[in-house]
Amino acid sequence: MTDFLKLAVPGVQKLAPYQPGKPIEELEREYGVHNAAKLASNENPLGPSPQAISAMASSAKDVWLYPDGNGFELKQKLSSKLGVSPDMITLGNGSSDILQFIMQVFVTSDSEVIFSQHSFAIYPILTQMMGATSVVPAAKEWGYDLEAILAAITDKTRIIFIANPNNPTGTWLTEAEIASFLARVPEQVIVVLDEAYFEYAIDPATEASGYPDGLQWLEKYPNLLISRTFSKVYGLAGVRVGYGISHPQLTNLMNRVRPPFNVNSIALVGAAASLDDEEHLARSVATNAAGLKQLMRGFDEMGLGYIPSAANFISVDVGREAAPIYDALLYEGIIVRPVANYQMPNHLRVTVGTEIQNSAILTALKKVLA
Ligand SMILES: *Cc1c(COP(=O)(O)O)cnc(C)c1O
Repeated sequence: MTDFLKLAVPGVQKLAPYQPGKPIEELEREYGVHNAAKLASNENPLGPSPQAISAMASSAKDVWLYPDGNGFELKQKLSSKLGVSPDMITLGNGSSDILQFIMQVFVTSDSEVIFSQHSFAIYPILTQMMGATSVVPAAKEWGYDLEAILAAITDKTRIIFIANPNNPTGTWLTEAEIASFLARVPEQVIVVLDEAYFEYAIDPATEASGYPDGLQWLEKYPNLLISRTFSKVYGLAGVRVGYGISHPQLTNLMNRVRPPFNVNSIALVGAAASLDDEEHLARSVATNAAGLKQLMRGFDEMGLGYIPSAANFISVDVGREAAPIYDALLYEGIIVRPVANYQMPNHLRVTVGTEIQNSAILTALKKVLA
């Protein structure tokens, strides 16, 4: 048989696929535990808005029709909510889609793409997929070292990814830090400000002091792309919908590589309906802020270090190699995220759950560390 690996494009030959969090069903099947809690993928433990659920349920009868390929209604809603014109919005099958589009528009195998150490795993995967070169300056106190990133820019740099807050560390950059960074990035280099956890971080209860809304810089910096998602606080990870906000010229270019009908009709309806439910959003953010405090208090009591987080997860330092602790937690019916692949071998990333789930992880952690 032909060895198709040899025929694959160079970037793909050496590509390791993204490792998702373990699904609950898989854990229950393989470990024989029941009522498992998945705190591994930063999903909203309250689920989607009830309004979104009923809107999606009633849209099921329409799935024989192709979706609106331009997502008119959802874009209208986002446009009025965010105060940007619809021609600045690109819809994606999850915001990962948006990250991929911007790469396809600007990156070739000669390009360099910059992102920080300990930042989101999709950035190196996309870079490698394009056959481009990842440039990865060391982090500073687990967060982005913007000076190091500026110093890493060359003539070949096409894109810089900045996750704010960052996954898996939860660290955030302040308004002053980003403002001075943007002012110093050459205008032909695209800055992707990945705001997947924006709604959590911007809420005063989360106590991410100085956390900015990236939209304020769009007018001044046409090289800025902001990405956001319905997968996290809106609880719609399973239907896959996210969006990018950028200068219309960037939006236009991304639309050229966007597959037709990339966002399905159920997702379009669910996302639009969830924007109407501010109460559910507020409840989700408040549950998270309380849960973060609960987890931090628990870690403090156990004498464990952790990285202060502006998002709906927190990375805890278990004080030793975390992989066996991750395994032991699986037997307790709890799925968290090992982050050794992010060069954080002693940390586990824990998604903030309900009060009951947070207690369960703290109890289980105490048991397996004893
Ligand atoms: C979860 C996440 C995303 C978005 O994922 P989608 O489900 O594709 O929208 C993007 N960036 C970061 C940093 C994330 O953690």
